[in-house]
Amino acid sequence: MSKGKLIVISGASGVGKGTVLGIMMKKRKDLSFSVSATTRPPRPGEIDGVHYYFISREKFEEMIAQGAFLEYDAHAANYYGTPRAQAEEKRERGPVLLDIEPAGAKQVREKMPDAELIFIMPPSMEELERRLRGRGDTPEEQIKLRMERAVWEMEQRVWYDHVVVNDDPERCADEILRIIAE
Ligand code: 5GP
Repeated sequence: MSKGKLIVISGASGVGKGTVLGIMMKKRKDLSFSVSATTRPPRPGEIDGVHYYFISREKFEEMIAQGAFLEYDAHAANYYGTPRAQAEEKRERGPVLLDIEPAGAKQVREKMPDAELIFIMPPSMEELERRLRGRGDTPEEQIKLRMERAVWEMEQRVWYDHVVVNDDPERCADEILRIIAE
């Protein structure tokens, strides 16, 4: 049985990845989403097992020791990782979307050379900061950290397979759908 490909989507926090991924999955029912594990606390409205698996630091470190992650990284003072078994299982049914940052994307590229890596850019840095603030759920000191990290993340786009700009979520989702259909 041919396996669905892994499609890695990266982009700075606040760039609108969640919205774009949601639109893509509505339009292509065969796409599934790899639910990451994280030690960060849930934001309002986030559901365990849907947006993330919210787990303790102890549990996360236990899973690292067991080799249970396809990739993982520590950033913004928390761990984030892709549970290997879940991604493999979902791949049996079709293409799988991974919403992960560049350090994790690099690990996927090394382990799974067939993975397709797509980087989403904001229209501008000013717009990114505006969107981060507008979300209203990120403390001020986190905004500063996230903007600093965004600069580093955007530098990493050079080794991605494709770079797209999220000037409009519908248009951006359609562009990515065209790329992955090729
Ligand atoms: P947030 O805390 O805003 O949900 O996510 C912060 C960052 O973590 C985002 O850039 C997101 O792509 C990244 N991220 C989410 N899940 C994973 C994961 O499983 N692995 C890695 N390496 N990064 C992740």
